Amino acid sequence: MRLVGLGWLLLHAGCLNAAEPLFQNRFFPLSQNTELVCATSQQNFTPTAALADIIRFYEAGHPDLRKHAVAVLTDHKNQDHLDDLADYREDCANNSVGELCVLEKYWDDREAAWRALALFYDTKTVIKHSDDYRYEVRRFNADHLRLFEKAIRKIPAFLRQSISKAKPVDNLEQEIADKPTVMQELIRDAFQEDYKNSIWQDHTHPLTLIPGIGFRSQTVAQVFSGQNLIVFTVKAFDKGKEGGTYRDIGVQYLVDFRLPIVVHEIAHTIDNFHFWNGQDDLYFFYKYHKISNDEDIMKIIAEAKLALWPSKWFEAFEYLGEVNEGRYDGTTQEKLAELVAQYILIPERLQQSAPAAYQWLREDIFRGIEYEGYDRCNVPLTKPLSWWQYATGKMLGQ
Ligand SMILES: [Zn+2]
Repeated sequence: MRLVGLGWLLLHAGCLNAAEPLFQNRFFPLSQNTELVCATSQQNFTPTAALADIIRFYEAGHPDLRKHAVAVLTDHKNQDHLDDLADYREDCANNSVGELCVLEKYWDDREAAWRALALFYDTKTVIKHSDDYRYEVRRFNADHLRLFEKAIRKIPAFLRQSISKAKPVDNLEQEIADKPTVMQELIRDAFQEDYKNSIWQDHTHPLTLIPGIGFRSQTVAQVFSGQNLIVFTVKAFDKGKEGGTYRDIGVQYLVDFRLPIVVHEIAHTIDNFHFWNGQDDLYFFYKYHKISNDEDIMKIIAEAKLALWPSKWFEAFEYLGEVNEGRYDGTTQEKLAELVAQYILIPERLQQSAPAAYQWLREDIFRGIEYEGYDRCNVPLTKPLSWWQYATGKMLGQ
């Protein structure tokens, strides 16, 4: 008995040593140069063969990993999704790649499935369909996954880790024991509804990107306070893609200008999780401290003058209520998200327009990491419309 037990332990200890830890952020490294920004949606994403290598790297010595990962990446409550997934499992029953076959059918595309799995293993990002099955919720496809990969690669690994910290619920009952009954009920209700955002056994919650429908038709994307869930209205979001012609601003985009939108949204999650130390069970409930509500930092944000985005890209958003002189500087939260996006994507301009805020971002948020932005691109970002494109072009905001 003892020998068998020892052998089993040694065998498994050997396995554990051979298996690579998850979420190493090594295959999707930070991109500080212009490679990903001066690009169309067709350029500079990780090729499918390399995605297969990433998947092999993490799965070696982890026999059940794929099954668990696919369960996370296809986690739905909606019955239509559950029926689809049951069908996929049946169709894939005799397939040698097993659960990967299910994920390929879920995305209806091999490349999309492999990219979703590789991004999850390496960067702890979850990209899924909306749980809402309705036809009008336009889905993500392989093109969106390529873009999300680029946006994640603009974020340093230490920030990717801080935005995937979870809200704890382990000691909730203890924490609220001495509160009035009414307040206890309120807190329990709030956490109940938020349960999806609260737990992972390692006390983290992956950054999660899903499609949805905004509150108003012009809502391109949103992040709710205290969360790391980003919801995209795919139809509005895709207006930023290269090739779009817009006669209000008289230009056609030549690079994929959806990238700044994703970076802006991730910036909201950086705001949400910056001060969170992973300890206090009630932190997100009523003591919630963000960059954008910190007294000292609010002053830096208020005094900063945002830069103007190049080549009229940002004028696409002129119809937003909070745009002033071409700058999206409405609430403190929005202005902070713009500052962070500008630090990553147009740092040369931000350094000119808001030197103090630039220095604060470099020291306190980015730990000295700096970028090259759109102004360093060797290719034009937009081109003027021809008379024919002008005559047939779309109006923005419609
Ligand atoms: Zn925003």
